[in-house]
Amino acid sequence: MSARRPALDGRRILVVGAGVAGLAVVRALHGLGAQIEVVERAPAPATGGAGIFLPANAVRGLRLLGLEDAVLGSAVRIGRQVVADHRGRVLYQVSTDTLWQGIAPTVATHRAALLGALLDGAGDVKIRWGTSPESIVPDGPEVGVALDDGASGRYDLVVGADGAHSTVRRLAFGDAGLRHSGLHAWRLLAPRGDTEPVWSVRLGRGVSFLTFPIGPDLVYHYGDVHADDAAAGLDGLVARFGAPVPEVVAAATVAHSGPLEEVSLASWSRGPVLLVGDAAHATTPNMAQGAAMAFEDALVLADVLRRTASIPDALREYEERRRPRVERVQQQTRRRDGTRGLHPAARDVLLRAAGERLFHANYRGLHAAP
Ligand SMILES: Cc1cc2nc3c(=O)[nH]c(=O)nc-3n(C[C@H](O)[C@H](O)[C@H](O)COP(=O)(O)OP(=O)(O)OC[C@H]3O[C@@H](n4cnc5c(N)ncnc54)[C@H](O)[C@@H]3O)c2cc1C
Repeated sequence: MSARRPALDGRRILVVGAGVAGLAVVRALHGLGAQIEVVERAPAPATGGAGIFLPANAVRGLRLLGLEDAVLGSAVRIGRQVVADHRGRVLYQVSTDTLWQGIAPTVATHRAALLGALLDGAGDVKIRWGTSPESIVPDGPEVGVALDDGASGRYDLVVGADGAHSTVRRLAFGDAGLRHSGLHAWRLLAPRGDTEPVWSVRLGRGVSFLTFPIGPDLVYHYGDVHADDAAAGLDGLVARFGAPVPEVVAAATVAHSGPLEEVSLASWSRGPVLLVGDAAHATTPNMAQGAAMAFEDALVLADVLRRTASIPDALREYEERRRPRVERVQQQTRRRDGTRGLHPAARDVLLRAAGERLFHANYRGLHAAP
């Protein structure tokens, strides 16, 4: 009896976007027999950016991709998550080891360090920097892609890993899916000083301010406000907190500022064009699940392509496996954003009484491997 031909044998795959999701896909597909090309709009690998918090299921994803050691070498292990009111009075706290029951450590790192490890993990796959798709035209079982550098090609699969404002989504799916969350965020970096290895957030009225170290010398801060209040800038956010937030912000440099967006689509594929990561299912960062979901997308995609004889069958199975988990994260994230946005008088009473239990419940569904 002849063995079934795996879906990837000799197939041509274009990955659009060399970010967290795209590079994880490249890594996960390594050795499966496909010819992989990557296009990335940025002219060169990222060296800037801010910090990123990686809960244990993200670290498990890195482990399954064979990249745990490469990332943990420069990351900070985070043992506790502390939620406080605007003056810093603790509402509840969670031990990350108890939360994740030994699945993996929870860590924080610089985004450039994470992307560097993923880029090394991509090996000798060709990345065309400074390039973006201009047209994507499905043609039977294949898809024709024209790039803005004048090149074009035909592929058996195009993976759109190009973020919340995905060009692949616009070209292949139309203008569907993107929604403003109603929040605006700032990401900042500052010298670490004596900051403990703890993730801590202060919740004010319609604002939050988050801090965690990302290396021996650097601390990351994140602040968000309702988009209606964003015009007042970072000063408007700072004014809603007491000491030490104003001093902390004064010592920091803004690495990024912008509205927070969500993506939600009825289907993640159109023929042989698939969206992964934020292009398919961006959320606000309230649960810090963006990288974890991107890694899991890559691992599940590789698994279904390894075991399935045709790309359409593989994409169907991919969506059946990923959708319940991703939608749960999106729903929980919205619920948590809603709780954060409650009037502090009600929110703080609720979180003091039930915050730790709710926090555990939010992540429980993510203990099982994807
Ligand atoms: C303020 C904020 C804080 C966050 N904090 C965390 C956190 O602590 N932990 C966490 O897990 N997640 C966090 N997230 C979410 C996380 O950043 C994303 O989920 C993650 O980066 C998704 O990766 P991605 O590769 O899908 O998209 P992106 O990181 O956006 O990468 C997309 C890549 O595609 C490229 N690209 C874009 N357009 C094109 C094009 N037309 N052609 C070619 N290339 C293109 C981009 O240059 C980029 O390299 C945060 C998000 C925000 C907004």
